[in-house]
Amino acid sequence: MSHEHVRGFVLREVALGEADRLIEILTAQKGLVTALARGSRRMKSPLLAATQIFALSDFTLFNYKGRTTIDSAELVEPFLRLREDLDRLVCAAHLAEVFHDLVRDDLSDDRMYVLWAYSCHAILSQPDPLLATHVAQLKALAVSGFTPALTACQVCGTKQLPSGWFDFQAHGLLCPEDFRPAQAQDVQHLSAPALACLHHILQSPAGRLFAFSVSDAVKNEVRTFSERYLTVIMEKKYQRLSLLQDL
Ligand SMILES: [Zn+2]
Repeated sequence: MSHEHVRGFVLREVALGEADRLIEILTAQKGLVTALARGSRRMKSPLLAATQIFALSDFTLFNYKGRTTIDSAELVEPFLRLREDLDRLVCAAHLAEVFHDLVRDDLSDDRMYVLWAYSCHAILSQPDPLLATHVAQLKALAVSGFTPALTACQVCGTKQLPSGWFDFQAHGLLCPEDFRPAQAQDVQHLSAPALACLHHILQSPAGRLFAFSVSDAVKNEVRTFSERYLTVIMEKKYQRLSLLQDL
């Protein structure tokens, strides 16, 4: 039996029973924490707001026999505006799913937590929340050890390619000499500005990640790359963003 205090973002909530919620909290010190919030769906519950999806809260957790329940919670920031704009809500829900799939429960470094905080802010404030979502998603993949190999040709090792073809099966870039159109099943051409944008995403700290502007054509290249790279790495088709086309 033990009590502990954590601050974290609610990445997922699942309704359980009549009024309970099982929530997953992204924390700085402990990765993803799964905890039961008893009665938290009742209108008068002191846990109601603090355990809602996207909320940032301070939690007092009670651990007993391998199960964690929430003793008390204090809301820090509800991120209510995320729930008021449908486009931004869809983007945040998609990104929460990606983070949920990437963050382990024993993760002890805080980079994903920090990245989520900046990403939430960017999805709320950037003029193009979908681009912000893809930028955050690529950074999350890189932070989790899935950095796409963009610094050199995967075959001959030529560095600082101005542009090239990305081979999604090899997870890396090919120079013009090593690109074989006949074998190109799963490749995407990356223009010089798109490649520069991807380098920016991989190299920038979270605080400067979203501070760039590119043409619509480059945005499309980056979004397409991000979608395809996510599907290949996670071996899973994420469905939520397709809602945006129907809105
Ligand atoms: Zn080459």
